Order: sequence, then structure tokens, then C-alpha cells
Amino acid sequence: MSTTSREEIDALRAKYQAERDRRIRPDGGGQYRGTTGEFGYYAKDPYTPFQEREPVSDRVEATVVGGGFGGLQTAAKLRDAGLDDIRIVDEAGDFGGTWYWNRYPGIHCDIEASIYMPLLEEVGYVPKWRYAPGEEIRQHAVAVAKRYDLYGQALFHTKVVDLTWDDAATEWIVTTDRGDRFRSRYVVVSSGLLTQAKLPGIPGIAEFRGHTFHTSRWDYGYTGGDQTGGLHGLAGKRVAVVGTGATGIQVVPHLAESAEHLYVFQRTPSTVDVRDNRPFTLADPKPGWQQERMDNFLTIVSGGHADVDLIDDRWTSTARLQRTFLTGTRDELTDEELELADFAKMNEIRARVDEVVTDPAVAELLKPWYRYMCKRPTFSDHYLQTFNRPDVTLVDTADHGGITRMTPTSVVVGEDEYEVDCVIFATGFEVGISGVLSGTLTVTGRGGKNIFEHWSNGFRTLHGFYSHGFPNLFHLGPIHNANAVNFVHILQQQAIHIGALVATGAKRIEPTLEAEDEWSATIASNAHDSYRFQAECTPGYYNNEGSPMPVSFSFGPGPIAFHNLLRTWRTDGSMDGVLWNE
Ligand code: NDP
Repeated sequence: MSTTSREEIDALRAKYQAERDRRIRPDGGGQYRGTTGEFGYYAKDPYTPFQEREPVSDRVEATVVGGGFGGLQTAAKLRDAGLDDIRIVDEAGDFGGTWYWNRYPGIHCDIEASIYMPLLEEVGYVPKWRYAPGEEIRQHAVAVAKRYDLYGQALFHTKVVDLTWDDAATEWIVTTDRGDRFRSRYVVVSSGLLTQAKLPGIPGIAEFRGHTFHTSRWDYGYTGGDQTGGLHGLAGKRVAVVGTGATGIQVVPHLAESAEHLYVFQRTPSTVDVRDNRPFTLADPKPGWQQERMDNFLTIVSGGHADVDLIDDRWTSTARLQRTFLTGTRDELTDEELELADFAKMNEIRARVDEVVTDPAVAELLKPWYRYMCKRPTFSDHYLQTFNRPDVTLVDTADHGGITRMTPTSVVVGEDEYEVDCVIFATGFEVGISGVLSGTLTVTGRGGKNIFEHWSNGFRTLHGFYSHGFPNLFHLGPIHNANAVNFVHILQQQAIHIGALVATGAKRIEPTLEAEDEWSATIASNAHDSYRFQAECTPGYYNNEGSPMPVSFSFGPGPIAFHNLLRTWRTDGSMDGVLWNE
């Protein structure tokens, strides 16, 4: 379906604006509460028993904070660079990062596994499905850790709380919440973007007496079954699920299968596009096949030209609609032409709802009214179908800004009360940009300088990796670096870069103040205009609940340009400016 008439365009713009206004809450991000304090039990690890151990007080060559795909890829590259003693520290009970924590029924990755699961050729693994189940990905993380011999020195269920630079010894002193105090020549902080589960600050949430948990700590002891479903523990139970983001979409069909009745509490509907999962086969696995696929995907989604679309899925077919938001790469289309393309895609998404959902009133509630990249797109061939079941009720909460309150036995929206036995929160995560920024990891560099003191007027880094006065400390993440939908690819390039620097054997790796200044100016001058796009979007974590930051933190020209810049920088002699041996 295409939209061309002026009347239709005006009507859609007005509808989007009205839906946004309906959704904006004056408390913005303040509407949420963390899974700490009295809600700390929501964050408890349900998967691995806590084991007492003696504190560690040794010396390693490198410490990597975070055992997800950023930390694992960096550790692999450090191993390749010749380091023997590499210690990964993680709050989880094992490797896997987000795939350790998120084990909810139906969990899959919606980026093709061949480009999402890192180091496939190194580990000798070919994914079984195009969009891999979470458990296959988690086991791959474990396989990577074994392949690079990372278990021996790892510390799990452990949080790094302090990093202090010892200038005389040229190494970091690492302190954890378990009494460890060890020394490390290099430290890499790769603690993820969406790690801390959050709850809505619903009045009465603490009074609810039924069972409750967050999707990132799935309680299979209560629900029974596993990630493939079969939740027999829910037989005879009235279940509420709160949230219809990328997680809610995957969970809902399984809950509906097993619960006596399922209430889906929705505030903003997601875009739900076709999934079309199928077994993955590699026709001609020549060495380098994975990198070729990754590069091809990144080129297409960030606006470059590729003769062939190797992945050919709904990310590549909507690449044009993602670029401005994710990378800032300009398109040859005008803003109005892009808006038309966006309307056309969203009309297709809304038409799908009408095709699948038999009750027109329910279908209407499930239609998203915003531009395609305002929220994380989702994909499912089962979610919309679930609302045709007689034992599933969609409860729209948009007019009330979400759930109104909870009582010991029910969830209340407006005046309507829904008695339930269990409430499952699919309400997402706090956006903590890196471990240092979370405020729970103190970093003291040369001369006793705190890193926030150094960043008091904004971030100061070279290429996002390191800052002056904080030698041998590397940050992973999108700040002053690149961003892309397949963030594992960005992390791979960051790992390669750190590995190359460490392989030089320099005593200290640290940029000059001038290099930091220049890079900060480069980031500022290349600021992309995703702010303008986001300011008009319906609220969510992408746009800070409707109040996007008017600055850009990532490299405006996009990831391909950034990776080329880094490669050139590594080979043209500039590296000398950060390597010090005195
Ligand atoms: P999200 O933050 O995307 O979704 C949270 C949901 O909770 C939203 O639907 C939100 O509504 C709803 N909500 C919050 N507060 C209330 C309230 N008071 N009353 C009613 N509803 C409420 O979290 P997810 O866990 O779904 O996803 C987080 C991210 O994790 C994704 O964006 C994606 O990056 C990643 N992910 C990736 C997957 C993959 O396949 N690669 C799969 C799953 C997750 P509203 O929209 O109105 O705020």
C-alpha cells in the first residue's frame, strides 16, 4: 500500500503527533525504578548458584569487565596478541552477557545468526537457524570462552567497583565487591548497554501478593517448561504480562499456550513484521565467509553500496529507514521522500495487523502510529495471531500512561481491575551506556584524577577508546565510536583495534590531550541529525522517553567510515601518538 496524496500525508502526520502527545508522561525516565533495594530480588540470578570463594590478590595482564560478546571478542583478540593472563569479571554466573540473563521462553535473536554470533569460523560453528534461539547463542558464548581458554581466571558473580592507577608500577589495581584486589596491566570495560532490568513505578507494585518476576530473570521453577515453551506450571493460572517491546513479542505466544488466561498489558504497540525463520545453510563456506556477510550487512544498513544483498531480510530491506536514526548517514532521498517511504512501510505493518487479527477493535489497538525507527522494530509470525485466541485479552493502557496501580491480587487500568496469579514484567532495561557511566565503578587515573573530573565538560576520548590520564584503560561502546543495529559487529572492530594496540607491547597506551580535543571536535562537527528525528517520536528508551539529548555521541558519518578511519589510523603511523614506553 502506498501513500501519496497530500491529505493522507497530513492525516498521518497529525495522527502520529496525537499519539505521541497521548503517550508523553511528565515524569519521563522518572517513571521507572531500578531492580535494587526492596526490589533487589527481581535482579537475583535464578540460573547459577552463588559459590563462596576466597578473595583474589594476584596479578594478570588484562582484566575485561563483562563476559558478553564485547568482552569475549576483546579477550580473544588479546589472546591472539599474545597475552597469557586474561581475567574476565562478570556479575553473571557464566559467560554470555545478555544471553546469560535473558532466557525467557521464545527468546531468539532477530539479527541473522551468521552475522550476530561472533567468531563462528574461529570456533568452527555454523548456526542452525537464521534467527538463532537464545540458548544456542548462550552456548556459543561458552564455546568461545573455552576456545580462548578464558574460564581458568574468570571471576563470576563478581562486580568490579574500583579501578585505581598505580603510576609507579604502570598497572591498575582492580577492586571488586567480593574483596578481590588484584593488579592488571590493561583493563577493558565492556559492560553492555542494556543490562539493569527496570520496573515501572506502578503505585502498589510492592503490595502484589501473587508471583512476579522480570523477563530477564525467568522463573522456570514457577512456570515450568523451558525456552522452547511447555510452561506447564501456568496451567490454571491467570497471567499478566506487562510490556510489548521486542521481549514481550517473543514471550506472549508461549504464555498464551500454557496459561488459563493471559492478559497482555500494552502501552505502545510495536511494529511486528514477518519473521520467516528457517534453517540456516551455508552453500559455499569459504574461509572469511562470516566477515564477508557481516561487512555486506553493515554496508547495506549504513547506506553504502553492495552489488548483492547476502542477508536479504527485513533489516536490509528497510535500511533506508534506519540510517538517519542509527548512523546519521545522509540518503540521496529528500526528507519528504524518506517520510513517504516510512509511511509506506508503516502502512504495510498496519495492514498486516488487519490481515491477521480477526477482531477489528483489537486489531486497531495493535496498530503502531509512529515512524519506523522510533521504536525497536520487532518480527514474529506468532505474536499477532495470539490475539485471536479466546483465552487472551489485550488491555490497552495508553490513555492512562501505563498501568494505573496494583493491588495484592490484581492489576488495575483506569477503573478496570484484572485479578491475576502472576505478573511478568517485560519492561526492559535502564540505558547504562557503560560500566563507568553507571556510577558504580570508580575510576582514578594518574595523579589521583577521577574520570568524571576529566569528563566534567563532556566526554573526552580518542576514538571512544581511551582518555588522557587513564593509561591502558579501554572502553567499549558507541560513545565517540560507531553504532549499528548489529552491535556485535561494532564490538568486533573495537576488539580488533584494542588487540592491535596491545600487540605493540607499549608500556602505556594513552592519547594526548590534543588528540582528545581533536576527536571531540570531530564528533561535535559531524553530529548527525537523529535528534530531530527522535524529538518527533513516540516516547521510549531510544529517545529518553520523549526528551532526546540534543547532542550526538557517535561518529556521524557512520560505522563504515569510522572503521575505515580506524584502519587508516592504525597503519599511517598515528598510532605512535598513543604508545609510550618511557
Ligand atoms: P523495551 O524497553 O523495548 O519494552 C518495554 C515495554 O514495557 C514497552 O512495551 C513499554 O511500553 C512497556 N511498559 C513500560 N512501562 C509500562 C507501564 N507502566 N505500563 C505498561 N507498559 C509499560 O524492553 P524489551 O525488553 O522488550 O527490549 C529491550 C531491548 O532489548 C530491545 O529494544 C532490543 O534492543 C533488545 N532485544 C533484542 C532482541 C533481539 O532479538 N535481538 C529480543 C529482545 C530484546 P512503551 O513502549 O509504551 O514504553
